[in-house]
Amino acid sequence: MRCVTIGGADLAHFPYFGDDHAFRLFFARASQTALHLPPSEAKGWMVPYMRMPSAHRPHVRFYTVRSFRKHALELDIEFVVHGSGSPGSDWALRAQPGDDVGIFDEGAMYTPPPPGRGWQLLVGDESALPAILATVEQHPDLESHVVMEVPTRGDVREIDLPAGSSIDWLPRDNPGLPPGGLALPALKNWGFPHTVPAATYVAGESGLVTGARRLLVRDRGLPKATVRFVGYWKSGQASRD
Ligand SMILES: Cc1cc2nc3c(=O)[nH]c(=O)nc-3n(C[C@H](O)[C@H](O)[C@H](O)COP(=O)(O)OP(=O)(O)OC[C@H]3O[C@@H](n4cnc5c(N)ncnc54)[C@H](O)[C@@H]3O)c2cc1C
Repeated sequence: MRCVTIGGADLAHFPYFGDDHAFRLFFARASQTALHLPPSEAKGWMVPYMRMPSAHRPHVRFYTVRSFRKHALELDIEFVVHGSGSPGSDWALRAQPGDDVGIFDEGAMYTPPPPGRGWQLLVGDESALPAILATVEQHPDLESHVVMEVPTRGDVREIDLPAGSSIDWLPRDNPGLPPGGLALPALKNWGFPHTVPAATYVAGESGLVTGARRLLVRDRGLPKATVRFVGYWKSGQASRD
């Protein structure tokens, strides 16, 4: 993972909701000398982006707010660095102080249960680590059980967990193993600590997410309305831009 902090006066207008709050990040292509942003329009970013001359279009990728310090106008992003030729990952490695980026806010998708209304189950690969750790940290009174797959042992972190909570770190420690390959079997073999979760969040590679949907909703009978499944990326398929 590579953490990049972005800052600037424009962040004063960023409405941070916490948990898995995500946004589109616009950044210059390696071949461009300046960042050109699509004009801001009520229709969102896609139509004005597609109208830009292709030589001016920036890259755009989805990321999560790992943490936001409103008082300092600083926002941390944790990028998975996963190999060259991937614009988002490459940008995180070459980013320098003073580089420009643009943000299109997308908001949060997951709603944790209110205090006293049960526990939450959070499952993901490393791309979901920012969302999952932010969600645990921001609810210190909420019992949380986490299945967190990461590339290596070195990616395991010491974190303070709410009382009664657990985190199952699953380091692949093998570049040949595909992301999601450990989390799904671990989830299959995992016994719920007591009652079923009041809310569940599963995010990461799409095979993990669809497998978890089958397992949790069809086999374990979790009510669909209590589970938020989010496919963050697809193995072998680059984001379009
Ligand atoms: C709501 C949301 C929030 C997200 N938050 C984060 C976040 O906080 N941090 C983060 O790192 N990612 C996050 N992602 C995932 C990120 O948007 C994708 O991984 C994206 O594809 C990265 O762009 P890229 O330019 O690096 O790779 P792309 O150009 O999109 O893909 C190039 C190749 O790399 C592969 N690839 C893409 N992502 C990964 C990966 N994580 N590991 C291994 N191979 C990969 C693709 O399958 C493809 O073969 C989020 C996605 C969503 C939808």
